[in-house]
Amino acid sequence: MQRVCAWCRKVLSGAPEQPQTHGVCPDCRANLIPVFLDTLDGPVLLLASDGRALSANEQARKAVGKDLPELREKLLGDVFDCLNAAMPGGCGNTPRCHGCALRESVRDTFRTGAEHLEVHSLLKKKTGENIHLTVATRRVKEGVLLTIKGQDRL
Ligand SMILES: [Zn+2]
Repeated sequence: MQRVCAWCRKVLSGAPEQPQTHGVCPDCRANLIPVFLDTLDGPVLLLASDGRALSANEQARKAVGKDLPELREKLLGDVFDCLNAAMPGGCGNTPRCHGCALRESVRDTFRTGAEHLEVHSLLKKKTGENIHLTVATRRVKEGVLLTIKGQDRL
């Protein structure tokens, strides 16, 4: 079998004389996911199990004030400019990260598949602002979809 990218026709594996099957190459995957995320309601980020951002739709990019190259591979705390994420160890590994509702909900959703419809957390931003952040988390095959439901300044 020869595997060919269904979108750009790049050969993924196998020889040309073999029967064809289709897949998606990494470049097309990276380009298609944001397009898919744009079809969802609200600002949505796709996260890996460790809380790293894999992708985000346009509304989410606006909500956090970052474009895709800035977001990709960033930990949740860096995506949201959490003050604690700048401490030694980084997001998830500082003494203040214990009990972070944001991280916990992503981790729980990834591990158990449970959907969280309304997770509230207090986000202290690097800018000095305190934000009441409300999110929802849902498991998908690729990771966890995090929807930003509210970012209210306190
Ligand atoms: Zn492709």
